[in-house]
Amino acid sequence: MTVTDFIRPSRNKGEWTQAQIKSVTVTDCANAMWKWLRAKRRARILARRPIADALWRDVVESTPYLRVLGEAERAQLRKLATWFVAEKTFVGTHELEVDDYMRVTVAAQACLPILELGIDWYRDWLTVVMYPGGFVAHREVEDEDGIVHTGFEELDGESMAGGPMAISWQETDPRTAPDEPVVVLHECAHKLDELTGEPNGLPPLHAGMPRREWSAAFSDAYERFAAEADEGTDALAFDDYAATDAAEFFAVMTEAFFTAPADLADGYPCVYDQLRAFYRQDPLARR
Ligand SMILES: [Zn+2]
Repeated sequence: MTVTDFIRPSRNKGEWTQAQIKSVTVTDCANAMWKWLRAKRRARILARRPIADALWRDVVESTPYLRVLGEAERAQLRKLATWFVAEKTFVGTHELEVDDYMRVTVAAQACLPILELGIDWYRDWLTVVMYPGGFVAHREVEDEDGIVHTGFEELDGESMAGGPMAISWQETDPRTAPDEPVVVLHECAHKLDELTGEPNGLPPLHAGMPRREWSAAFSDAYERFAAEADEGTDALAFDDYAATDAAEFFAVMTEAFFTAPADLADGYPCVYDQLRAFYRQDPLARR
């Protein structure tokens, strides 16, 4: 296969200018070559570094929102998780030794949101930092008078825009997480949100998904959720942390979409519909 096989210009209505021809030879050829090399590398990873059958079964069966996946979805998830393990760097902190079970557990949970999107949606970051349990982050906040306040925040996970995803292993391991492990789903929602800049609850929408419909669905739900959380009258068992801002609301709704789809479809049907279109999955049909 040659590089020119990848170049199928669709924008050439009429003759190309010299500048267009030049830009194709430089930019498109480089991109096509890069894509081809990456595809070859990924095929090699699947062949040479497969996830062991018993380990994969263990991870999928012990996590409720993975256990409900059908055969074809499981196979797709395994492929993505294999690439995730190979392409991300896992760093244990506080003497936490990261083993294969931990890597595959994180990878399987992380790849559920991108099951129908593809591994390239996580292209902008490389590292998973793993803490044994919850961790403390240093914070500096400037108030409206320009005074900087410093403090600490206790976290189970954090996503640094363009940088690592940090998680508590205790909250990720289905054997020790108090409920269903959601921290990886939550941080991965932030990672998708970050693809359009500072997280604001608006990930890159697909063609045919009008932004105004997304915004209307999320704004209405957010306002109702924040008001009910404030009054303590929220009937739905979603984490009140969702009321923090639009980015956290999107991340918590993503958790709900995969772990409690019936509750989400019931409480905020328009949000469920938008997430179904964005993730190209229908978790309600799996339960
Ligand atoms: Zn968050």
